[in-house]
Amino acid sequence: MTTNRKARRKQRAIDREVLHRKMRAAAGPQAEEMRPIETTFVDKRIACGARCTWWDGIANVGLTPPTSTGNRLPCCPNCRRMLFEYSDEQAWFESVDRHEARGNPGYRKFVEWLRGKCFDTVTDAVNAYAEETGIVMGGSVGK
Ligand SMILES: [Zn+2]
Repeated sequence: MTTNRKARRKQRAIDREVLHRKMRAAAGPQAEEMRPIETTFVDKRIACGARCTWWDGIANVGLTPPTSTGNRLPCCPNCRRMLFEYSDEQAWFESVDRHEARGNPGYRKFVEWLRGKCFDTVTDAVNAYAEETGIVMGGSVGK
């Protein structure tokens, strides 16, 4: 490498540093404080059966067998039927609590018990709940 090439390379490095200093200055003083944000994404969605009683965190959903194109869909891990989703557990339980408030005492406790359990119908779930806990659901849920 010639001396001229070394000198040009050194000058480019200096120019780059000057440019970066100007960019930092233009970005303002808080830019100096900025650091990459370390995040661990946690998927808080809740999935619940559209045609069964299963519900749980989205990490616990099942997948349908692959189609001819290899696609798989999220489904109940037990019966493989389709799911609805809620944004998070808070949204899910707000819905549950609203249903309890509409004349279904004990509904939230029942739903908490129901987590991860797949029954074909709510009646089947209510009967299993009564058998296991001795609690008989009233309101529209118990009918
Ligand atoms: Zn199911």
